[in-house]
Formats: sequence, structure tokens, C-alpha cells
Amino acid sequence: MITEVISSKELKKMDPVFGQASFDNHEQIVFCNDKDTGLRAIIGIHNTVLGPALGGTRMWQYASEWDALNDVLRLSRGMTYKSAITGLNLGGGKAVILGDAKTQKTPELMLRFAHFVHSLGGKYITAEDVGMETADMDLVRSITPYVTGISESNGGAGNPSPITAYGVFMGMKAAAKYSFGSDVLEDKVVYVQGIGNVGEALVEHLTNEGAKVYIDDINRERLEWVRDKYHATIYEGPNMYSEAMDIYAPCALGATINDTTIGQLKAKVIAGAANNQLADEKKHGKLLLERGIVYAPDFLINAGGIINVYAELENYGKKEIIRKTENIYNTTLEILAKAEAQHITTHQAAFEIAQARIDARKNEG
Ligand code: NAD
Repeated sequence: MITEVISSKELKKMDPVFGQASFDNHEQIVFCNDKDTGLRAIIGIHNTVLGPALGGTRMWQYASEWDALNDVLRLSRGMTYKSAITGLNLGGGKAVILGDAKTQKTPELMLRFAHFVHSLGGKYITAEDVGMETADMDLVRSITPYVTGISESNGGAGNPSPITAYGVFMGMKAAAKYSFGSDVLEDKVVYVQGIGNVGEALVEHLTNEGAKVYIDDINRERLEWVRDKYHATIYEGPNMYSEAMDIYAPCALGATINDTTIGQLKAKVIAGAANNQLADEKKHGKLLLERGIVYAPDFLINAGGIINVYAELENYGKKEIIRKTENIYNTTLEILAKAEAQHITTHQAAFEIAQARIDARKNEG
């Protein structure tokens, strides 16, 4: 189990792969390199006990290769537990492409990447993540069937982000019910950090319900666009973590709940879309518990996207996608109650249920 985020400097001192905390018993890691297109990618296959390892591809300009490796390992492991707790017959995997999606993503590079995915024969199935769009998955589909998140016009379930946002909204409502006694978010002060594909759709749900929504992003243009569209307020201060708020919704990148931010947080509930929100699952999960902050586990409430892409494999339609995603509300309430009854963190409560499902399947042989 991952217990801490390790800096790339520290990583270099350790065994490079098997010795990493984030390695956490990965089944397979594939390094993909293609000189002609400049492709450098890593595919992490964490666990395939419940089914093929499904997880998106992220394209990101990492500070180092170590950071990329660490990211893919943390993300692919997260997918194992996300699918397990959601009741899907999928394992956990993820891919990262090293580079700037805005300037370095070319059709040739994506096609080459698709060949690498295909070479795994279905053990890994890809989809979109940060830096990827439905059109990229359509391109990958021209090479391999082992891809989901393709456009509706090509027979897919389309962009998973609105469904992810809906699931986060459901998880947030459940956490609000638990914390405030009501799941009505009207007049609640909610800070949404990162208003990309998922964040924007979440802002829409929240403003529709009458929440007081503050938005934060590194992209000014997008901030102004989302503000004007949904009448949200742009957060202009220096440090949003220390602001008075009811709910903090991390929807950008992971590890924002860390040694620096945890003491500043005034939110009573944390519920967002970002993967791996706790820099250190054990330590920061425990600190949140001690501070009385209700944390809706990320891998539980951001599962709408995987429910959406799983529909492409199982051939179920929109109605079932919505039903499964709405069920995140009930699962979140169950997890929060289990954590309270057993005096454990909400992350641990969710993790234990997911692990038990994997162990049971393994024991079935
Ligand atoms: P996205 O790339 O569309 O949006 C991310 C947004 O965060 C961008 O607007 C970016 O400018 C902003 N951002 C980046 N760094 C920031 C910072 N330091 N402070 C404030 N804003 C910052 O990505 P997305 O698809 O909306 O996904 C958001 C998060 O949710 C990611 O962590 C992703 O892994 C996770 N997630 C997404 C899905 C999905 O269906 N798209 C599913 C599960 C989990």
C-alpha cells in the first residue's frame, strides 16, 4: 500500500522499480519508446484479478522520468480499487505519455502509442485522461479494439467527464448529508479547484442547485468563461485552502491534501474528481479524521467515468450508466458509516471493501 509521496531525488536512492513504494505489486510495466514520433510512454498494469486493466492515458510534461513513473504507478493502482469498489469486472491500469499535449501530441504519436496498447493483447484497455480527448481515442481505435471512451458517432459512450462530474456530485451530496444532515447544497460554499472537463460540469450541477461556487484554475481564459456561463465567482486570493468554506472539491491534479495544506483547510467536506488527492493515504487520511473533515474517497466518487467507458465493453446504455453512477451516493454513505463504526479513515474503509472483493475473486481461482 502506498504510504507516502516520494520525491524524485529520494526515488533515485531506492531500487528503481520493484523497490518503489508506488510499485505496490504491479503485475507489469511497459516502457514504450519510438524515436520517429518522439513517443515516450509508460503503461502500468497493476492488477488483473477482476478483469482486464482499464485506465486512461494521461499526457503530461513531467519534471522527470521518475515523476512520470511514480504517477503512472499511483494512478494504475488507484484504478484497481476504483473498479473493485464500483463492482466492475475490471482490473487496474493506466498509461502516461511524457510531453506537452498542446504542442507534442501528433496523430503519428497517438497511432504509435495505439500499436503499443494493441501489442498487450487486451490485458490493458485505454481511455482518455488529462491531455486526451475523445478524438484521440477515435484515432487509437483505428489501430486497436482495446480502447474505450470513443465518440458516440463511432459507437462509443462519448466523453466520460460529464458522468464523472455527476458521480462526484452524488458523492458530495452523500458526504454533505453525513456532515450537515442534509444533502441539499443550496447556499453551501463550495470551492472547485480545476474547472476543466470534469470541474466545469460539476460547477454546472452545483450552481443549478444554488450553491455558492468559487472557482480556481491556472487557466485565466477558462476561469472567465466558466464564471460567465454559470455565475460562479473566481477566487482571486493567494491561498484558497485557508478560506472559510463548506466543501473543497479538488478537480485538478492529485496530492493537494498534503503536509502544507492539511493544517490550513477550513472545509468540512472534501469531495472532488482528482485522483490520489491524499499525498499520503494513511497519514493525511488520519489527520483529516482527527480534524473532523469528512473526506469522500476519490477513487469511490470519481468512478462515473469508468462506469461510462465500461458500458462500451458490456453494451449497457445511458440509463444503466446513470443508475450505476447515482449509486455512488449510497456507496459513499455506506463507507462513511463503516469508517465511523470502525474508527478508521474513510479511505481505509473504501479500500478494505475493494480489497475484499479482489481477494474473494482470487480465492475462487
Ligand atoms: P482537465 O485537463 O480537463 O482539467 C484539469 C483542469 O485543472 C484544467 O483546467 C487545468 O488548467 C487545471 N489545473 C491544473 N493544475 C492546476 C492547479 N495547480 N490549480 C488549479 N487548476 C489547475 O482534466 P479533467 O478530465 O477535468 O480531470 C480532472 C481530474 O479528475 C484529473 O485529476 C483526472 O485524473 C480526474 N478524473 C477525471 C475523469 C474524467 O472522466 N475526465 C475521471 C476520473 C478522474
